[in-house]
Amino acid sequence: MKKSQLIDKAKDAKFSPEQLDFLASAIDFATEMHRGQKRKSGEPYIIHPLQVAANLIDWELDIDSIVAGVLHDTVEDTPATLKQIEEKFGRDAAFLVDGVTKLGQLRSGMRDIDSYLPATKDNLTKLLIATGQDIRVMIIKLADRLHNMQTLKFLSPAKQKKISTETLQVFAPVADRLNMGRVRVQLEEISFSYLDHHRYNFLKKQMKKRLGRASKKLDHVRAEVGKKLAENKIDFQMDGRIKSVYSLHKKLEKHDQNFEAIYDLIALRIVVENKADCYQVLGLIHGLYTPMIERIKDYIAQPKSNGYQSLHTTVITPDEQIVEFQIRTERMHEYAERGLAASFHYNEQKLTDAYKKGQISAMPTDLSWITELQTAAARLSAGEEVDTEKLRINLFSDRIFVYSPKGDIYDLPEGALPLDYAYRIHSDIGKNAQNVQVNGKIAKFDQPLKTGDIVEIITRNNIKPSVDWLKRIITPHARTKIRQQLKRLNIEPPRERSKDRKK
Ligand code: MN
Repeated sequence: MKKSQLIDKAKDAKFSPEQLDFLASAIDFATEMHRGQKRKSGEPYIIHPLQVAANLIDWELDIDSIVAGVLHDTVEDTPATLKQIEEKFGRDAAFLVDGVTKLGQLRSGMRDIDSYLPATKDNLTKLLIATGQDIRVMIIKLADRLHNMQTLKFLSPAKQKKISTETLQVFAPVADRLNMGRVRVQLEEISFSYLDHHRYNFLKKQMKKRLGRASKKLDHVRAEVGKKLAENKIDFQMDGRIKSVYSLHKKLEKHDQNFEAIYDLIALRIVVENKADCYQVLGLIHGLYTPMIERIKDYIAQPKSNGYQSLHTTVITPDEQIVEFQIRTERMHEYAERGLAASFHYNEQKLTDAYKKGQISAMPTDLSWITELQTAAARLSAGEEVDTEKLRINLFSDRIFVYSPKGDIYDLPEGALPLDYAYRIHSDIGKNAQNVQVNGKIAKFDQPLKTGDIVEIITRNNIKPSVDWLKRIITPHARTKIRQQLKRLNIEPPRERSKDRKK
């Protein structure tokens, strides 16, 4: 990436001549400051910040973020000072550069404080706190991490493993929290290819073999569904979505490495104009093929906690093919791929303004970034047909972060109990929960979990859920699973009163 290429890219993205001048002067400043420095690849250092800025243009961020991307390593790695940057490039860009710099310092400073907890704990918490100021800081950091991952081959194998682990445990989950699905997948794929090269290649080959066969068979289904939708005068786009290698790996782990249990190697994704069309398409597909009832998911009525929305269904065709469909509006699709980054494209209003007006505290001690996330999410969905009240409940309630003994991170709503965690991991772990250990000590099932807790569920095979368990959970997911399991044991679960549900 060269100066002229980046400027052309910004031009294509319709930035004004003044903004292009602003960007050009930032590039000149950063080039001067990084002069003589080299990347591990041997290339001049400046290619890195320019590529980071290019990522931010692709993600359609505002000009201050792009300029901050160009400048993001100057304060940390060169004689440039924050004051200089503020004088030359204004308070907004300086504020963002400062956030990115602090994030780096917090991470390196925190590394060995708490050796008994997984290293990820500090990193994640600090990352979250630091970005509480402005979500764009985190997005710039993701752009930075993405380019570092793309150039990881120049580092030593030990560093490759270390950085990949951190990316997989911290940055990919953060991208997921921001619903930046495309970036999350990129980070996961590269990390996984370094962490388990053989497995990655093996799965990639397997996938290729199976996809070849599957996509031929799928053509027929695609044509049939397309015809049906056209007959019903629905405007749509249909694409095949191929599962990522890493998510295939995760899924195979859950299913004893049984490839036959993976129904969504390819899913057909249908994008339509509005919410009503989504449900109509679902109905038409269910008219053509037999749905697998337990696999119908309505993430439109109940969005995931990161705001993801879609209808999912898996059907069996008359010739015994199993096909997954994902149905969503254009807006939902955009949000699933680009997440919160998309909000800066739709809305020019800057979060930095809120910061300057003192509406956001400078160094929050809590995870008030969530409030920020909410603000942006609410803006994103303003004027949209989504039920913002619902989105608010899912996005606005505070989350806690707990860890499995292996160091995997799970986020749960505040007040979540050990069985919520158990059912979150897997419904069989929930069903067979005998005891729970929190931070190495036996704990009670009615004791709420806290951020940072390491939670281990001890299972035994002949445990059976009882009606009482419904009082030991707060998440809708655990409630649904327990009720299903009770029914299977021929125990009629108590009727749900709407009053209880709201709690
Ligand atoms: Mn960097």
